[in-house]
Amino acid sequence: MKELILDDGSRLLYQLSVKRVKNMNLRVRPDGSVSVSVSRRISQRQAEDFIRSHIDWIRRAQSRSLKRTPVTLPAGLVSGDLLRWQGKEYAARVETAETEAVIVQHEIIVVRVKENSPEAAAQAYVKWYRREARVLLSEALERVCPRFAAEGVRKPSLTTRLMASRWGSCSSSKGRITINLYLCQLPIELAEFVIGHELCHFLHPNHSAAFYADLERIMPGYHAADRRLKEYSIL
Ligand SMILES: [Zn+2]
Repeated sequence: MKELILDDGSRLLYQLSVKRVKNMNLRVRPDGSVSVSVSRRISQRQAEDFIRSHIDWIRRAQSRSLKRTPVTLPAGLVSGDLLRWQGKEYAARVETAETEAVIVQHEIIVVRVKENSPEAAAQAYVKWYRREARVLLSEALERVCPRFAAEGVRKPSLTTRLMASRWGSCSSSKGRITINLYLCQLPIELAEFVIGHELCHFLHPNHSAAFYADLERIMPGYHAADRRLKEYSIL
């Protein structure tokens, strides 16, 4: 991590990496951190000048990303930590018990572990999360499929995965869709729209106007849902 002192005296932390890029690439990540990729020919001084000249853009992108709801899974979990599940916020309560279990209550998610350490609690929670999220996404697929069956689209096989940069993908040649397990932290209807998006690729292998017209016709409200999806960012 490098530090740059700006004209107004404030500091900007950024990550500098040398890559095979044309000159320089500037990126503000979903968590608001700044990374700069430069070609070998660019000096650190030049990179800093580049950052300075784009500082307004960086600050705007940072405030936009900080307003988005972060989606993530814990590496360590202690009582009181915030957990998101199906569009709701819960406080974690970690307890020691003979049997491992995760129980969703009104405003609390109880995580029972044999060994009370933040890592063990996080592991138990993530294991439960992956399993339950897979069930929720399979059920969402069952709800969405009939709409597309009328269009001649057969039910695809479902792969679920934690993905860092996309909510879903589609392999029409293999008859398979891949859906991001992180979606189960959002309201479940948003997962249905992501599944609908992927199913619609069996009709159109692109993002043409016809693709979006069919999608909005088969799943009314798609565009509004897509805007809501953009309020979340995967950390
Ligand atoms: Zn697509």
